[in-house]
Amino acid sequence: MKKNIAVLPGDGIGSEVTAEGVKVLKKIAQIFGHHFDFDYALIGHEAIRTTGNPLPDETMKLLVQSDAILFGAVGHPMYDNDPALKVRPEQGLLRMRKELGLYANIRPVKLFDELLHASSIKPEILKGSDIIFFRELTGDVYFGEKGRKDNNQTAYDTMIYSRHEVERIAHIAFRAAQTRRKKVTSVDKANVLESSRLWRETVQQVAAQYPDVQLEHLFVDAAAMKLIRSPRSFDVVLTGNLFGDILTDEASEIAGSMGMLASASIGDTIGLYEPIHGSAHDITGKGIANPLASVLSAALLLDISFGLKQEADAVIRAVEMTLKDGYRTVDIADSHTPKEKILNTHKMGDEVAVRLEKVAVEV
Ligand code: NAD
Repeated sequence: MKKNIAVLPGDGIGSEVTAEGVKVLKKIAQIFGHHFDFDYALIGHEAIRTTGNPLPDETMKLLVQSDAILFGAVGHPMYDNDPALKVRPEQGLLRMRKELGLYANIRPVKLFDELLHASSIKPEILKGSDIIFFRELTGDVYFGEKGRKDNNQTAYDTMIYSRHEVERIAHIAFRAAQTRRKKVTSVDKANVLESSRLWRETVQQVAAQYPDVQLEHLFVDAAAMKLIRSPRSFDVVLTGNLFGDILTDEASEIAGSMGMLASASIGDTIGLYEPIHGSAHDITGKGIANPLASVLSAALLLDISFGLKQEADAVIRAVEMTLKDGYRTVDIADSHTPKEKILNTHKMGDEVAVRLEKVAVEV
């Protein structure tokens, strides 16, 4: 198979982890006889620094000509410390999602058994957790009207959803549930928010077309509690942009670390694959970032955009074997991990690539 992959490493640890995602994709191409071309482009702070634009036209031009996108993260402390700055890295990411029509963000949260002790949640509560989040990505407070008024004394963001936006992601979630344990938990705040009442109404209408799938509604506050208390009770979680953003960071603790969670953003055309974490300024440049979220994002890319299920499974299996052999980055190390098995970002990627050779013979 011949494909063009656009690579947007972005800022901070984005470039450190994306290098390992690319390493794994190159290894897959070599083992399975594919030809992947990688074209790099700027986004976020790096793009602002060199072009003044968080999503330069050249980047958009490359994206629309590509078959899939592997993205790292955007962000820089200067913007976090100065909320008044008008041109910001995250604008590049939001615009990219909107312009490419990427409305469904898919975030699998599956605990590798080897990491049972890496989480701060009790192992007996965690064991067997396997959730998939469907977060709506192009609506909500992120894109509703926002501004300042009353002589700068008041600020507002508008939470807005249309029936059509809810329907299209709900269908994707229900179809996914049919291939899993046949349960959808829709998360909203319908007791107070009008947009949530439209969300709930619409999800109920869509659910009627999937009688084999059980639908449960939870308010976001209760969902946040239940995720930690009984993660195994969830199968497919369907939610809006803001609630999904927050709940999936919380759910990363189920998988052991932010560095373990991959995501796919899909719409009507191209797919974008990225770790759920940000640019992590606190560890940038130290070489200790966990690259597995980027590696697992590469697996999602192979599966969803290229239909290469066998290759995607090989990547997941290679990650599993690397963890089984005791290799860890610091964020997923526990008191049982010997010092010599704690690896830097680059070496962790190497260990996965080495195991791909072995796994390829099995799959
Ligand atoms: P973050 O996800 O970058 O980091 C949160 C915590 O998790 C940090 O302690 C970090 O060290 C740790 N962490 C994250 N990824 C890790 C990895 N791969 N390995 C080991 N540890 C990891 O969130 P934040 O600190 O709130 O934000 C930092 C910057 O990232 C901000 O500028 C924010 O705007 C941006 N951000 C970008 C995205 C994105 O590009 N999709 C998402 C979230 C935050």
